[in-house]
Amino acid sequence: MKISENYTFEVGPIRPPSEATSLLLRITRNCPWNKCKFCGVYRGTSFSIRPKEHLIMDIDSVKKWTDLFKVAENMDPHEVRSMVNNLKNQLGDEQSWAYSSALNWYRNGMKSIFLQDSNSLVIKPDDLVDILTHIKKQFPEAERITSYARSETVARISDEDMKRIADAGLNRIHIGMETGSDVILGLVKKGTTKAKQILAGQKVKAAGIQLSEYFIPGLGGNEYSDLNALETADALNQINPDYIRIRTLAVTEKASLIEDYKQGIFTRTNDTKMVEELSLMIENLHGITSTIVSSDHIINLLPEAEGHLPDDKEKILSVLHGYLRLSEREQMLYRIGRRTGLMSSVHDLDNSSYRNHVEEIIQQYGIDNTNVDEFVDSLMNRFI
Ligand code: SF4
Repeated sequence: MKISENYTFEVGPIRPPSEATSLLLRITRNCPWNKCKFCGVYRGTSFSIRPKEHLIMDIDSVKKWTDLFKVAENMDPHEVRSMVNNLKNQLGDEQSWAYSSALNWYRNGMKSIFLQDSNSLVIKPDDLVDILTHIKKQFPEAERITSYARSETVARISDEDMKRIADAGLNRIHIGMETGSDVILGLVKKGTTKAKQILAGQKVKAAGIQLSEYFIPGLGGNEYSDLNALETADALNQINPDYIRIRTLAVTEKASLIEDYKQGIFTRTNDTKMVEELSLMIENLHGITSTIVSSDHIINLLPEAEGHLPDDKEKILSVLHGYLRLSEREQMLYRIGRRTGLMSSVHDLDNSSYRNHVEEIIQQYGIDNTNVDEFVDSLMNRFI
């Protein structure tokens, strides 16, 4: 029996790495902006909002499954199989994803929920409050409900609505600030300004919602490298987000930024320049208590460059400066070691087995100073 016309339980394409164990609930499809030149995730797709009643069905299906899993803990496997088949028949094919989503979430302790896709706060605040309220009713044990959001969208939401959304249960928001520079924001078509980024960040914090801001070293190319660092630090200093997550620039063929490189609008930075930029950004963070996170994505060159501000600032900078002090040859060895997954710290250069392996790769592919950037780019594209 079809539960509702055009209804299917849906799961979107991406989530932050920190939401790996979360239940994914798809509020909207794709990105309502979809113009950022560095982002190819939703290229060629169109945005839509899923009907609220479909979300309620998604939530209720996951509830039925997790209730069944709880009861099944101490039951005979044959009986469990029959109960699973009965529920599958009852829910229908439209819900095939619900079973695997619920099972994955149940096995991970049912602690957190992530609302997909790229900007859930774009829906009407009343609808978001209703969805959150239903989630909390069905899963009162869930400790965290999180979403991506665009600054431009959050900046338009009233403080009262943000508070209602927070009170209904949304307790963490991930915002892709990318850069605090208006020049770079304009060039990459981010569709917002530094002032809006600051306003949105402060609004999230004022509502009592945890805030992750993402920074992209390298986004302004060599031309705007210092500007990217300094303007981002200035914006972050005015927001004091809970987390500053580093996402080193990696450009795929799907991202239109490639065209800007071809036309010479930017010249592309390499790993070493991006470490210099990150270092300058962090040196200019003052008076904030954010946690810098570098290890949550393989794309970052130095995962050890993380910690709590202000106490760990010198420790983080010493990791970055340690890399910058290496000779050009050692930097190349480490870059290849990291991008091939062999190394995760410059101390791994002391491991002769890793080192020999990287030397073999260098020989095999004929890598030197003239082509290492290209080689590293091709490796990084595997991760995004
Ligand atoms: S970066 Fe975010 S806002 Fe920009 S196009 Fe990609 S998903 Fe949309």
